[in-house]
Formats: sequence, C-alpha cells, structure tokens
Amino acid sequence: MRKVNEEEIKALKGQGFILQNNNEDFVCRVITVDGTLKKEKLCKLGEIADKYGYGHISFTTRLTVEIPGIKYESIENVKRELEEVGLYSGGTGNRVRPVVACKGTVCKFGLLDTQSLAREVHEKFYLGFYDMKLPHKFKVGIAGCPNNCTKADLNDFGIVGGKKGSVKIFLGGKWGKKPKIGEELGGLYSLEEALNIMEKVILAYKDESPIGERFGTLVDRIGVEAFK
Ligand code: SF4
Repeated sequence: MRKVNEEEIKALKGQGFILQNNNEDFVCRVITVDGTLKKEKLCKLGEIADKYGYGHISFTTRLTVEIPGIKYESIENVKRELEEVGLYSGGTGNRVRPVVACKGTVCKFGLLDTQSLAREVHEKFYLGFYDMKLPHKFKVGIAGCPNNCTKADLNDFGIVGGKKGSVKIFLGGKWGKKPKIGEELGGLYSLEEALNIMEKVILAYKDESPIGERFGTLVDRIGVEAFK
C-alpha cells in the first residue's frame, strides 16, 4: 500500500473512511438514514465486506454501519459499489451528523413515526446543510415516546414523542467525556414546528458559537430562555 499522508487521511475521514488503529486499513462508515436497510443494501454491504474488507460489518451506536479492513486502493471501488444500491459513506466532521431515531414507527409504545421523521431530518439537515461548516458536530436524536430509548436528550437537539403526535424538544445535550443532559425547551410542538425550530437553532449555533464550541456550551452561556 502506498503511504497515505495526513492531509489525505483527514480528507478521507470527511468522506466517512476512517483510519484504523493499525494505521493501514480504513473503516468505511455507511449511513442508513433511518436505521433500516432492505435486502439489496444489506447484501451489498456483506459483499463489499467480503470483497474489500475483513468479511464482516458492524453496527454503530448511531445507526450507521461500518465495514472495517478497507485498503486505501479499494476506496474508490467501495464508493462505486455503495452507489450502485443508493448507499453512501460519511457521517463525520463539523456538521449535522446522521440522525438517530428509535423504532417508534413499529414499536407498540411509539407515539410518532420516528423513521419517517428521521428521513425528513436527514434530507433537510444532513444532506441540505452538508456544506454548512458548523463550530462542531451537531447530533440529532429522536425518541418515539417518553421511554426515550435513543436518549434523545443526550443529543445537541433531541425530539421526544408526546401526546397526540406532539413532541418535546431538548437542547444542548451531549455524551462523551463530560456528559450533559439537554435542557427542555418547554411546551409541546407539532413536527412541522420542531423542524422549523431545528433549522433556527442550527443557524443560531453557526452564528453565535466560536469554532470548537459544542452547542450545549452555547445553551449554558446564553440560557435556554434565549432560544424561546
Ligand atoms: S422510545 Fe418509546 S417508541 Fe421508541 S423504541 Fe423506546 S419504547 Fe419504543
């Protein structure tokens, strides 16, 4: 394998090909959009893993699929084969990240169609805002009911299903080294309102936070009331 320089490694990470701990192979992070995959896509992921990787795939905690063991020379072929079934890699960088939604669509406790909402959020804010550089990553979590299986309030923007299809909104949560539960915005919102609020929040974050600041720090700094 030819030596890949730091700049190329960074660029590849931005495309969803992340250098592994052996400093040689790449993990390809594939986005599922709503956490579901039909047979054609699932089979293709298995084929790619067999052909270019270690022969297995893994599921991440954020509903993406990863194929480990990709050689630098195979990356373009992997991209092309993913494209054949409408899949693509990504999900890294200082931008809106792939959304995580629970199975509320089919769950007996589900109060909203979480997977449909995830597709809408993906379209509007992952793809739609893809080229918008944010101060840091921005994660969105959706839970179909107050059981909150996806821990939506530990995301920068959390949506939790409530009565009659309305939702609660949580701002500024995060996981990691210093976890923080998001602040509830207060009130109940329709899905349309929630998406409008999400748009305004992302734009405010882009304008108000310095590079490197997580959204939760901005919420702490100016207070959740300011967002109301
Ligand atoms: S959060 Fe509620 S709707 Fe979603 S999977 Fe958990 S119990 Fe089901």
